Amino acid sequence: MAHDMAASALKKQHLIDPEICIRCNTCEATCPVGAVTHDDNNYVVDAEKCNFCLDCIAPCPTGSIDNWRVVEQAYSVDAQLGWNELPTQQELGEAAAGPSQAIDGEVERILESAHAGLGGKAVAPASAAKPTVNLYRRDRPAIATVQGNFRITAADTESDIHHIVLSFGSTVFPVLEGQSIGVVPPGANAQGKPHDIRLYSIASARDGEKRNANNVSLTIKRVEGGVASSYMCDLKVGDKVEVTGPYGATFLMPNDPEINIVMICTGTGSAPFRAFTERRRRAMPGASGKAIMFFGARSPQELPYFGPLQKVPNSLLEKHLVFSRIPGADKEYVQDRMRTEGKVVAALLASPQTHIFICGLKGMESGVDEAIADICRKSGLDWSRLKPEMRGQGRLHVETY
Ligand SMILES: Cc1cc2nc3c(=O)[nH]c(=O)nc-3n(C[C@H](O)[C@H](O)[C@H](O)COP(=O)(O)OP(=O)(O)OC[C@H]3O[C@@H](n4cnc5c(N)ncnc54)[C@H](O)[C@@H]3O)c2cc1C
Ligand code: SF4
Ligand code: SF4
Repeated sequence: MAHDMAASALKKQHLIDPEICIRCNTCEATCPVGAVTHDDNNYVVDAEKCNFCLDCIAPCPTGSIDNWRVVEQAYSVDAQLGWNELPTQQELGEAAAGPSQAIDGEVERILESAHAGLGGKAVAPASAAKPTVNLYRRDRPAIATVQGNFRITAADTESDIHHIVLSFGSTVFPVLEGQSIGVVPPGANAQGKPHDIRLYSIASARDGEKRNANNVSLTIKRVEGGVASSYMCDLKVGDKVEVTGPYGATFLMPNDPEINIVMICTGTGSAPFRAFTERRRRAMPGASGKAIMFFGARSPQELPYFGPLQKVPNSLLEKHLVFSRIPGADKEYVQDRMRTEGKVVAALLASPQTHIFICGLKGMESGVDEAIADICRKSGLDWSRLKPEMRGQGRLHVETY
């Protein structure tokens, strides 16, 4: 099949970013198979030897070891030794070919709209790894196999939210935390045209839902009458799904462990933050930067991953789970809890090390924006000045749909 041909022609290559690498030798000393080597100029990874064990990733103090490209032919050791910077992701022959620019343009417009809230142009965090985008398109999708699909909200609630795991098998599908994939629902719309591609945030870390298993997880809410969400939530283990992407080059996890990450979400907006948290747990267990989450749902029974989240230690993630429909209790929304925690939020806002990420339904932006403005007013900060500054510096991100 066409996708298998595309998959077999492509390889994932592990590379080191020469601009950030401090030549400390940790990776070379760590690698169990001698895949890392160096000269006076660079530390590099030999594609012939690297078996993707990932042992070198966590010990690297700069994150420069954590770079990947999809290639038709691997860069040689000699070529890498001569680099001053990483090459950008190549346009890939078969996988990138095809008359589907218009469809990618459509996806770009969806993303632009999702990232536009709070004004200003979206900019990637300075320390984020460089993402691969648009590798698979509607006319040449990657074919994923469903490995798991289970409801993660209580059966007696209105919110039917599923945790879905898709395996890419031998197909190369490199992702970063914060990116999305496209799903092509089968069939046609009322006009007889193929259904639009729907985007879903990746809820797993870059090295997979299960480490090195080449799979991703998604958090999908069944929308009443929704084409793609119903299709996805009804999938059975073993079913095949046409996937496009990956997409997204700005709403990305900062790689620097000193960065404070403030995550504000409702419902399935938690998906990328599950990925961020898992990334921190796996790659930066001793990160000095704070990770704090404000997560709103109607009730604990309707909050995706409520059980597993309880088990995440506060040292890894400070959790504020807030509920708006608990019988007998006042309604509480994420912006209310942010105000209650105003001193903590203000201290984070005052730090140039802080990145804010907001994800969920479109309606949440304005309430969060107003809460941050209030917190700033009370602590001598000027949100009207700070907001565009943080946006421009890649420290304020929104993804709402
Ligand atoms: C960057 C990004 C990331 C996203 N991440 C996630 C995620 O992680 N999880 C998640 O669940 N969602 C996510 N979404 C939303 C997702 O892409 C879909 O929009 C969502 O699942 C609904 O798609 P659907 O096909 O099920 O609904 P659609 O078929 O698009 O329908 C949406 C609504 O419109 C109504 N409708 C459809 N057609 C008609 C019609 N002809 N007349 C009247 N009403 C109609 C439907 O009844 C339904 O209520 C994300 C979106 C973006 C942009
Ligand atoms: S991923 Fe494993 S094999 Fe590859 S360079 Fe790192 S330690 Fe060596
Ligand atoms: S561990 Fe990281 S910083 Fe040190 S040499 Fe390797 S890639 Fe460079």
